[in-house]
Amino acid sequence: MTGNDILYLVIPCYNEEAVLPETAKQLLAKMNSMFERNIISPESKILFVNDGSKDRTWELIEELHKSNPIYSGIKLSRNKGHQNALLAGLMIAKERADMTISLDADLQDDVDVIDRMVERYYAGNDIVYGVRSARKTDTFFKKFTAQGFYKIMQAMGVDIVYNHADYRLMSKRALEGLAEFKEVNLFLRGIVPLIGFSSDTVSYERHERFAGESKYPLKKMLSFATDGITSFSIKPIRLITACGFLIFLVSIAMLIYSLVVHFTGNTVHGWTSMIVSIWAIGGLQLLAIGIVGEYIGKIYLETKERPKYIIEKILDKKEEGTGRAL
Ligand code: UDP
Ligand code: MG
Repeated sequence: MTGNDILYLVIPCYNEEAVLPETAKQLLAKMNSMFERNIISPESKILFVNDGSKDRTWELIEELHKSNPIYSGIKLSRNKGHQNALLAGLMIAKERADMTISLDADLQDDVDVIDRMVERYYAGNDIVYGVRSARKTDTFFKKFTAQGFYKIMQAMGVDIVYNHADYRLMSKRALEGLAEFKEVNLFLRGIVPLIGFSSDTVSYERHERFAGESKYPLKKMLSFATDGITSFSIKPIRLITACGFLIFLVSIAMLIYSLVVHFTGNTVHGWTSMIVSIWAIGGLQLLAIGIVGEYIGKIYLETKERPKYIIEKILDKKEEGTGRAL
């Protein structure tokens, strides 16, 4: 396999001074081996995105850049979170690269998978997902929460690739597609499958963090998951409507039941009207909230201004004789 396309590795970094030197070293070795095999263009780069780190991460990136121009860097004005930092890197890389690979700074994503991703790219894929084959190194807690997350996402009808985090290759035109998504609540794993184009997966084993601590404590993980669901699905609103409808049906059954009990004379005075109103009002209220919710759901989807379509190819040859294009 040979090729001359420009590859950018995009690495978001938040307080990663402990791992950065080692990551830089391993990625450089990988790039050099690909240069030698003429797989990628010599203009390829390793792009670090400093997500408002409070430690020496940015100074390290500057030093790396001085030592070798293959290292480049972007500094965000403050901490904006992993997804935003990654997007910033990808959008800058889009202007310069033919393909990008996003990976974490902590070397949890096996760097040897990069070759396989690039190979799949040359085979004609615009997006190549890195999929974790095993979670041997994850704690029980992480495994449990992560798998629960994928299950819930699927139940909510969100199209995401199982066990795929943000280790992926994207071609220039896939990134151009991504740029069409204007949403502020960014959940890349959900958006990327919406872009389309031909894609493939490569599986890898996720390593343990090389050094430093996870920047995703439980609180961030929960808010990430909530973001993921609420950014892609209005099913929770549908659930309310369904509940309201169900309770309303129950109230009708209760009405019949309590009327029967009322006329057979087995009740305390006032019970019938009380019980029927409780169920009927409760059900109607939920139903009404659900209906209002449906409209809010519509507004919400409209405000995202998502692209209605992304064109992959246009066949547009001038017809002979007419001189008109398709
Ligand atoms: N990260 C970031 N901004 C943040 C949090 C994390 O850029 O606010 C980066 C971090 O430096 C790393 C990647 O996102 O490169 C994944 O974070 P981490 O490894 O801590 O997450 P985990 O692997 O524990 O899920
Ligand atoms: Mg990590």
